[in-house]
Amino acid sequence: MRDVSPRAAVPTAIPITVVDVPAEAEDLVLEVLRSGRLAQGPMVERLEAAAAAMAGTAHAVAVSSGTTALVAALEVLDVGPADEVLTSPFTFVATLNAILEAGAVATFVDVDEDGLIAPDAIARALNSATRVVMPVHLYGQMVDMPSVAELGRARGVAIVEDAAQAHGASINGRAAGSFGLGCFSLYATKNVAAGEGGIVTTDDDGLADRLRVLRNQGMRERYVYEVVGHNYRMTELQAAVAVAEFGVLATRNERRRQHAAALLSGLEGIDGLRLPRVLPGRVHAWHQFTVRVTPDAPIDRDELARRLAAAGIETGVYYPRVVFDADPYRGHPLVRGDLAAVPNATAAAAEVLSLPVHWALTDDDCARIVDATRAALGE
Ligand SMILES: *Cc1c(COP(=O)(O)O)cnc(C)c1O
Repeated sequence: MRDVSPRAAVPTAIPITVVDVPAEAEDLVLEVLRSGRLAQGPMVERLEAAAAAMAGTAHAVAVSSGTTALVAALEVLDVGPADEVLTSPFTFVATLNAILEAGAVATFVDVDEDGLIAPDAIARALNSATRVVMPVHLYGQMVDMPSVAELGRARGVAIVEDAAQAHGASINGRAAGSFGLGCFSLYATKNVAAGEGGIVTTDDDGLADRLRVLRNQGMRERYVYEVVGHNYRMTELQAAVAVAEFGVLATRNERRRQHAAALLSGLEGIDGLRLPRVLPGRVHAWHQFTVRVTPDAPIDRDELARRLAAAGIETGVYYPRVVFDADPYRGHPLVRGDLAAVPNATAAAAEVLSLPVHWALTDDDCARIVDATRAALGE
């Protein structure tokens, strides 16, 4: 784990994330090692079954990362040059990189106060070149997907969900990844962690078939090429870890919810500290518990982070800049980002701070996070 603060001197630091693979993974990994098959085999199929069950979709296609999941989803929708993909300016850079790798134009609609893109704002931002809307279920909470999906149908625009942070999240009982092509990450710190890996979920038989061909060099059968493909395959070893992680997703997400509830009640009513909200109909996956330190607070976000670090509590800033506000994207011909048009994302980038909420916290840890945050803010 990164060591950036005086908390190294504190004996019982609380990390922002833990990686603790369930013991079952050890047997599954051994099974793979002894099977003679290291890539794209039966363990990947088991993983795909678990992922389809999570999303409630007919298909799940495992790929090499969350980023390649997004690229593959765009490619099987035939998104290409001059097509626009409308997404959030307040997201991890992979969302933007995937759009550019697919050769499409990235356009942005500002987030609301919960850090999500809202249906009415999306409706206003759509134009005749928009081929895909790519909502990001930030921190594990879903965008209003029933409305976005309806909008997509009405306007003839496809939906690709960036569900990299939202394993097991739902809205009105319907899971993340079931509204469009659903793209999940299995990166080492996500709610389902395999080290590296990704999943695309869909109910569409044709798209699932194209995804399977695309990930394997465009081959339907050996040396019969149907499209220009990629190597987006997953390894059996990664799949074994992910299968074990899927087995504990529901209980770990429930623990995250309990910790979030404790933090929400403990941190209520502090001037200048805005708490995350669970929006109507949502089951939140609590990938992150992210507060906003507003200008009304006695100290700013960075100072709160420093004080929590000194108290042995690791925090994270997801994300410190609007996604296109970085050198490689300034003046990029395929990036249509305008900082002046995304004031909410800009404010969020200056104010967000994520506190530990992961499943391995103890009740004591939650109390320490509450007490240290209150103390840091002069409460
Ligand atoms: C992690 C993440 C990704 C990319 O997933 P990788 O598996 O790291 O490629 C994409 N979008 C968001 C919002 C993420 O958090």
